[in-house]
Amino acid sequence: MTVPRLLIVGPQGSGKGTQGVRIAEALGIPAVSTGDVFRANVQAGTPLGQQVKAIIDAGDLVPDSLTGEIVRDRLAQDDAAGGFLLDGYPRNLGQVGDLDEFLTGRGEALTAVIELAVPREESIERLSLRAAEQGRADDNAESIAKRLAIYESETAPILDLYRERGIVDEIDGVGSLDEITERIRAALSARGIAF
Ligand code: AMP
Repeated sequence: MTVPRLLIVGPQGSGKGTQGVRIAEALGIPAVSTGDVFRANVQAGTPLGQQVKAIIDAGDLVPDSLTGEIVRDRLAQDDAAGGFLLDGYPRNLGQVGDLDEFLTGRGEALTAVIELAVPREESIERLSLRAAEQGRADDNAESIAKRLAIYESETAPILDLYRERGIVDEIDGVGSLDEITERIRAALSARGIAF
């Protein structure tokens, strides 16, 4: 069996957080979401939270150095030794380089990248719905537009790089939660990652 060192990538509103947690639970590995870490810190009013709140609310990216440190600390914990699922990191080419360096140093590499493909109109619709339901400060029209633009200009290019490595599975992200989980399960299973 291939060790599940996974990354889930998709535009905001693609459902990557929900699917990421489902897949990680099924595989018994931790789901590591940088967005969740930042939100928890903002909520608790920690120094990190105070540092990043305005950046997140505006829909901008937190500096790579800070984000990288959080991920490295988390992946160094014992429960990530048998695999992990990253959600929302890396998000630009610089972060891919940082992660490569860290994983290579441990003799590891990502084994699969799940690309959740959702049309732009559908993402915007889902984000607006989430704004109404959860009241996330960064789910306002301006921030949503900025985050989707950053996704297209900075995050989508990381997929080309991972595609060259032959580790990307493009999954149709439109459908019911169970349908999408099943598509991901089938793709991972073909890579020797079974649940
Ligand atoms: P997410 O929940 O993944 O959409 O992340 C919410 C916000 O957290 C983003 O809009 C960024 O401000 C910040 N964030 C999350 N992950 C990263 C990352 N890898 N690099 C920079 N900023 C991030």
